[in-house]
Amino acid sequence: MNDSQTTVAALKQVMNDFVAARQWHKFHRVDHLAKAISVEAAELLELFLWLSPAEVDVKMTDAAFRQALSDELADVMTFLLSLAHAANIDVATAVREKMARNAAKYPAEKYQGVYERPLKQE
Ligand SMILES: [Mg+2]
Repeated sequence: MNDSQTTVAALKQVMNDFVAARQWHKFHRVDHLAKAISVEAAELLELFLWLSPAEVDVKMTDAAFRQALSDELADVMTFLLSLAHAANIDVATAVREKMARNAAKYPAEKYQGVYERPLKQE
C-alpha cells in the first residue's frame, strides 16, 4: 500500500495493532510519545550531521542511506500517529486547521519565493 492507497486511519490502526499486541499502551502516555518523537527526529537529523549540501545530494542517491532515511521518517511518523491516538486528536483535521492558520499567517502573494518570519504579536 502506498500513500495514495491508504488513509491516516489505516496507518493509525497498524500502529495501534502493533502496540496492542505487545500491551504497550501503558507506556504510550502523551508525554512519553512527545519525547519519543523528539528522539526519533534527532535520529533523522543525525543522518545529515556534518554533511555539506553537496554531500547530502550524493547521499540522496545512495540506496542504503535512503533506506535509513525512510526508517527514521517512519519512526517519527509512527510516534506522531501514536500521540494523535493517545491524545484523541484527528490528524487530518489538525493538519487542515493548522495549514489554514499558516496560509493566513503567510499569504502566498506576500511570501512567494521569500521567507521572513512575521514578528510575534502580543
Ligand atoms: Mg529511529
